[in-house]
Amino acid sequence: MVEFYNPTWDDIEEQIFRIAKEMAKDNFLPDAIVAILTGGVIPAKLFADILNMKNIKYIDIKFYRDVGKTESKPVIKAVYVNDLDNKKVLVVDDVSDTGETLEAVTNVVSMFSPKVIRTATLYVKPWSRKIPDYYGDKVGKWIIFPWDKWDVVRTNPDAPVAKKEKYFELHNIFSRMRG
Ligand code: 5GP
Ligand code: MG
Ligand code: MG
Repeated sequence: MVEFYNPTWDDIEEQIFRIAKEMAKDNFLPDAIVAILTGGVIPAKLFADILNMKNIKYIDIKFYRDVGKTESKPVIKAVYVNDLDNKKVLVVDDVSDTGETLEAVTNVVSMFSPKVIRTATLYVKPWSRKIPDYYGDKVGKWIIFPWDKWDVVRTNPDAPVAKKEKYFELHNIFSRMRG
C-alpha cells in the first residue's frame, strides 16, 4: 500500500518561498530556468515570477513507471533549450525521487556550456541519489501535486484525490471519442 502526501496549493507556495529565500541568501540569480516537463513547469513559472525573469527553457524527459514503482532509466524525448552559453542555469522539477531525472537533465544542460548549473525541486525523497542544490521538504511518500492529481488517479483509482468522479466521467467520454 503506497502512502500518499497531498500538498495544498498553499504548501506549494511555502516551498517556493523557502527555496527562493535560500537562493537569495546564496546571492544566486539564474539567467535561465530549465523546467523539466511536465511537473517542473508550474514551479518554474512561480520561480521565474519571483526572480523577475521570463527566460524559461524546457526538457521533455520520461521515466516510464507507475506510482511507487521505478524502472531502469529516464529517456530524453525533446530538448527545447538554446542560448545557455556562459549563463547561470537553474534546473527545476517538482520532486526528485531516484535522482535519475535530475542527473540526465543536468548532463544535457551541461552540453550547452553554461557557467553554472544548480538544481531545485519542491520536494526530495530521503533516498534520492542526487540531492538538489535547493529543495523544500524531504518526503518519503508518493506526492500528489495539484497539477498532477489526475495523472496519479488515472493509474491509482483509489488514491485520495478530490473530485475524481468528475475527472473519470470526462476522461471516459474522451477515451471513447479516441476509440
Ligand atoms: P526521479 O528520476 O528522481 O526518480 O524521478 C523524478 C520524476 O518522477 C519527477 O519528474 C516526477 O515526474 C516523478 N516523480 C517522482 N516521485 C514522484 C512523486 O512522489 N509524485 C509525483 N507526482 N511524481 C513523482
Ligand atoms: Mg509526472
Ligand atoms: Mg516529472
